[in-house]
Amino acid sequence: MDLIVQKFGGTSLSDEQSRRHVLRHIVREHEAGVNLVVVVSAMGRSGEAYATDSLLDLIRQNGNALPLRERDLLLSCGELISASILCSLLNAEGIPSVALTGGQAGILTDNRFGSARIVEIKTDRINQCLAEGRVVIVTGFQGMTTDGEITTLGRGGSDTSATALGAALSADIVDIYTDVDGILTADPRWVSNARPLAAVSYEEICNMAQNGAKVIHPRAVEIAMKAGVPVRVRSTFSEGEGTLVTHAQILRSQGIWTDKTVTGLAHVRGVTQLAVLNQDGLADLQLRVFRAMATHGISVDFINVMPTGVHYTVSDLDTPIAIQMLQGLGFEPNVRKGCAKVSVIGGGMNGEPGVMAVIVEALTNSSIPILQSADSNTTIWVLISEEDLAEALQALHTAFGLHLSPGLGI
Ligand code: ADP
Ligand code: ASP
Ligand code: MG
Repeated sequence: MDLIVQKFGGTSLSDEQSRRHVLRHIVREHEAGVNLVVVVSAMGRSGEAYATDSLLDLIRQNGNALPLRERDLLLSCGELISASILCSLLNAEGIPSVALTGGQAGILTDNRFGSARIVEIKTDRINQCLAEGRVVIVTGFQGMTTDGEITTLGRGGSDTSATALGAALSADIVDIYTDVDGILTADPRWVSNARPLAAVSYEEICNMAQNGAKVIHPRAVEIAMKAGVPVRVRSTFSEGEGTLVTHAQILRSQGIWTDKTVTGLAHVRGVTQLAVLNQDGLADLQLRVFRAMATHGISVDFINVMPTGVHYTVSDLDTPIAIQMLQGLGFEPNVRKGCAKVSVIGGGMNGEPGVMAVIVEALTNSSIPILQSADSNTTIWVLISEEDLAEALQALHTAFGLHLSPGLGI
């Protein structure tokens, strides 16, 4: 018998009407005789009563004076509420179900509170409940250490719970239900004519997710890819098939995917560009700068090392401490806050001439300065000012024909 893991995100569960849509997807599969494990996120988004951000607001008022262990206790409540409410909804429909915490579902993690990693999933209890004919509802985003401490997996971690369960249970598919029609060529909140993709490879979506496309967590994709479990990202609010994510060779053999020069765009906001110039001819400037960043756990990006100095970026959140460190070393960095990193992503970009030319032309025609750039086999990154972001995304999306069906790349 088939086994499907369904995951419903916060917006899919936020009100009575949305939860009716959730119910519809569960009932459809249940009536088809599928074994179902349903992973839920906390209900709603920031500002709504039981959303993860709203729980965090409760302690922000006290200056965040809560140890990480207890913070995880608080954060785990959002998913518990969702799971219990969904269980009541299913029972009211006469569908036998059970709600389990991450720990009760056998999800064992290390003890890094707030960003725990799953180390093992003991599936006996879930399998027992499935054998009894029940729909198993599991709280996403959380697990338990071997000493019984509740942990959370980091923001967006319910996707990880879902694919990890899919892998451990050898599910036929993991369906990630959300508030958009699938994986689109860009974030539809920024690019109004972004288009849903029928299929993407694990590598492509992993790349998009690592570069800021929060439609699915990158760690969730890595787990699915390792286990070879197919994933579908689809809308809670429609019957659409969404986007199938699996190995490139499988998609290619089914004739539903080809390596495109450009598949999509992703972006990250809140980036600061730092430049430290080598005015005094210091031989060890680079070493001192990057060692200071590493010592303080500051992650750096867009690294450009030249004899004349170094340019790099940090998250706006780390800017004050980064500046303090540099000044402590006697440097006076040039600081440009409020930047955005735009990623142009495509598995078939490698060796294809002209991609950078299209990017430069599109941004130049829109009078958008490129502050820095970098590239790899599958991605070109440009750093721009955040105030140019909407225009830049739209210009690049159009320049690569991503609004057309099927996307033409270049
Ligand atoms: P959920 O609560 O279901 O986990 P998220 O807010 O985490 O939902 O992820 C869905 C959101 O991801 C969408 O509303 C959309 O704005 C955003 N998003 C960013 N990039 C993309 C993309 N390339 N395709 C689809 N959605 C994207
Ligand atoms: N509720 C958690 C969050 O908002 C986990 C998730 O939604 O995936 O980050
Ligand atoms: Mg999410």
